[in-house]
Amino acid sequence: MAPSRTSPHALTAGVLFQLVRGGEAASRAELARTTGLARSTVSQRVDSLLGLGLLAERGGGPSTGGRPPTRLEFDAGSGVILCADLGATHCRLAVSDLGAEILVELPAELDIAGGPETVLAWVQDRFGELLAEAGRTADQVRGIGVGLPGPVELTAGRAVSPPIMPGWDGVAVPAHFAARFPGAPVLVDNDVNVMALGEYWASWRHTVDDLLFVKVATGIGCGIVSGGALHRGADGTAGDIGHVQVPDAGDALCHCGNRGCVEAVASGGAVARRLVDVGVDAHNSRDVVGLVRAGNPQAVELVRQAGRLVGEVLAGAVNFFNPAVIVVGGDMAHAHEQLIAGIREVVYRRSTALATRHLEVARSRLDDRAGVIGCAVTVLEQILSPAAIDDALAEAEAPPEEATA
Ligand SMILES: [Zn+2]
Repeated sequence: MAPSRTSPHALTAGVLFQLVRGGEAASRAELARTTGLARSTVSQRVDSLLGLGLLAERGGGPSTGGRPPTRLEFDAGSGVILCADLGATHCRLAVSDLGAEILVELPAELDIAGGPETVLAWVQDRFGELLAEAGRTADQVRGIGVGLPGPVELTAGRAVSPPIMPGWDGVAVPAHFAARFPGAPVLVDNDVNVMALGEYWASWRHTVDDLLFVKVATGIGCGIVSGGALHRGADGTAGDIGHVQVPDAGDALCHCGNRGCVEAVASGGAVARRLVDVGVDAHNSRDVVGLVRAGNPQAVELVRQAGRLVGEVLAGAVNFFNPAVIVVGGDMAHAHEQLIAGIREVVYRRSTALATRHLEVARSRLDDRAGVIGCAVTVLEQILSPAAIDDALAEAEAPPEEATA
């Protein structure tokens, strides 16, 4: 961003807030220098931001002689976000601050097929307990982020024909939270997008603009970060790579009704079934990972082979999208050496030399927390955007509406 070239009218309080939050300016003087705005204008806008409670002013910054300058800081502790990363069979709930730092969290078993009423009531009860554990109250909740294991219509926060979520089709999730957490925006996205955003935000946003996050678990999916932002596509299904056919997949029947989908041969469940075929007891991704860690040779070979099959799909994606990094996450990433070795083997062989010149293939660093951190970031990107801050200021400064009888 080059704020100094922007018209002073575009340098709203929301933009100044963003500069402080992003660490680009840490005092009124620095804001004036960075933006080219008059000191008096900066002071006026900073004062309104201080009124919102999102910035804090503290004495004792580095001094070059004379009175030490007052430092401006983003006050990440001034509110909390509730995060629910819901999977098919397990979930993770958390309370984060406004810097996406997790304050308290709860991993738990969950049956998403129990339906939205049961599941979301349970989630809210746990949210209440987690808030108490964090020493926070419901009125400090600034937003709620939810990841669901299926396609989501973003604007309505509604699940759309989710194959593994009976009873959720067309259900608008935000309405379920309105009574208990009134006024808190509820943002819902599919779990892979949420994980991609969390991973990008936590580890890559300062160095990379284009990233693919591949989740290999019960299913296989991909989240796309393009130009520093999540790319969802026209209908929100971008990155749905699980049902891409791979030539080496044979004719394994997929739950979608087609044959040869990568998910039908390389997901955790598919590898478990192949292990059973060769006489090794395994039921799901976790069993497969356990066997790989114990050095079971069939499991090692099958996971490596699963990595190669995922790599075939990704090789095409690399040529098409030219990411700087592919991050591999999901349950199966716990067997990461074998899985990633298989992916690398094929991606580097099958993608063009130019597209892989700087390509990094890395394991998820957030691991099981990618989802909850992504839920927090999904909310924060919205409620702390310059436009949202300007709206909040306009609302705070508007004269109170006359009471109507
Ligand atoms: Zn399929």
